[in-house]
Amino acid sequence: MRKHLLLSALALILPLALPAQQIVKGRIENAPQHKTYMPTFKSDGDTKYPKNIILMIGDGTGLAHIASGYYANGGQLTVTNLKACGWVTTQSADAFTTDSAASGTAYACGQKTYNNAVGVDMDRKPIPNIPEIVAERKIISGVVSTDDMHGATPASFFAHQPQRRMYTEIWGDLPGSPLTFWSAGSQEAFAAKATAETQKAVREVFTVVTSLDDPDVWQAGRLGYLPTAVESGYIVDGRTDFLPKTTAFAVKFLKERCNRRRGFFLMVEGARIDKASHGNEYESMVREMLDFDEAIEQALRFADAEGNTLVIICADHETGGTTLWNGDPAKGNMEGVFVSTHHTPIPIPLFAYGPRSQDFMGVQGNEEVGQKIIKLLMQR
Ligand SMILES: [Zn+2]
Repeated sequence: MRKHLLLSALALILPLALPAQQIVKGRIENAPQHKTYMPTFKSDGDTKYPKNIILMIGDGTGLAHIASGYYANGGQLTVTNLKACGWVTTQSADAFTTDSAASGTAYACGQKTYNNAVGVDMDRKPIPNIPEIVAERKIISGVVSTDDMHGATPASFFAHQPQRRMYTEIWGDLPGSPLTFWSAGSQEAFAAKATAETQKAVREVFTVVTSLDDPDVWQAGRLGYLPTAVESGYIVDGRTDFLPKTTAFAVKFLKERCNRRRGFFLMVEGARIDKASHGNEYESMVREMLDFDEAIEQALRFADAEGNTLVIICADHETGGTTLWNGDPAKGNMEGVFVSTHHTPIPIPLFAYGPRSQDFMGVQGNEEVGQKIIKLLMQR
C-alpha cells in the first residue's frame, strides 16, 4: 500500500483543482461475492415522517464505484435493489470541486462552506450540525466510520474547526458534542492526536471500549468504540467486518437508548472507497465498495424490522474520475480506469429507502440533503 499512501498524501497536499492527466488501469479477479438483501418495500415511500434517519456516506463514491461493485458482485448489490434514486451536486462554496470537509459540512449542517471547513461557515463561525440541532428535540445521534474520528466526514458531525487538519482541536470538540455513540479509528489515532486532557474529558463523557464484546458496552449510556488501526484500516490490509458489524450494533444501541417517540439519527461512512481511489487502487476500492454494501444491508434490515426508518445512501463527491473498462460479472472479474488521483466535480448518485424516500429523488445539492434531513426530524 506504499504507493497508495504516497498518492493519498500528495492528493491532500496538492490543490484539488490541479489537473492530473493520466490513465491508470486496475483490476479485481474473483471478487468475494455476497448475496444481496431485497428489502420488503413496505414502508418505502410512506408520506409520514420517519422516526429514525440513517445517512450512509460512501466517501468518493461515484456511479463507476457503485457499478464496479455491482458487476464484481455478479450483477447485483443491495443498494441497487432500491427504487428511489437521485443525483447530488457537490460543489463547495469556494470551489467547483469539493473536498470531504466542505461536503461533509453541507450534509451535516445543511449549508455550503469553503473547502477544508469543518462545521463552520464562510466567516469561520460554527454552524450547528444535525446531532446538535435534533438534540433540542431529544433525538439522539451516532457516527460510525472506517476513517479516523478526526477525518473530515465524521468530524463534520461533531466538530467546528476552520481547518480539517486541526486534528487535535477536532478531537477536543468530541466531549462537548451530543453524540450518544461514536465509533471510528483508532486506538492509535486517539493516543496520538487527542491531548491527555481531551482523552480524560472524552472518558468522562463516554464509556470508551476497544471491543464491542466488552461487558461495559450495554451498561453504557453514551459509548465510544475505538477499533485498532488494522480493524478500521483497508480491507486489503486486514480489516474484517468492522463496518457492517458496527452499523448493526449502532442501530441496536441507539434504538435501546432513544426516546421511544423521538428516535435517532445515525451517520455511517465508508471512508476508504475514497482513499483507495486517491491511490488508484482499483481492487482495494471494489473491496471497500462491497463492504459498504454489506453495511447498507444492515441498515435496510433494521429499517424493515422497525418500519419507521429512512435510510439515505449517497456520497460526498466522486474520486478518481473512475470508469469501467471491461468485466466478467459471472467470475467477479472487473477492470476499471482512473483518470485522476483527486476528487472530481461530477454529481454523485443517491439512493433512499423508507418513509419520505421520495423527498430525495431528482437532482439536489448536498446541502439540500442535509436541510431535508433536518426538516424531517424537526417537524415530525
Ligand atoms: Zn478524498
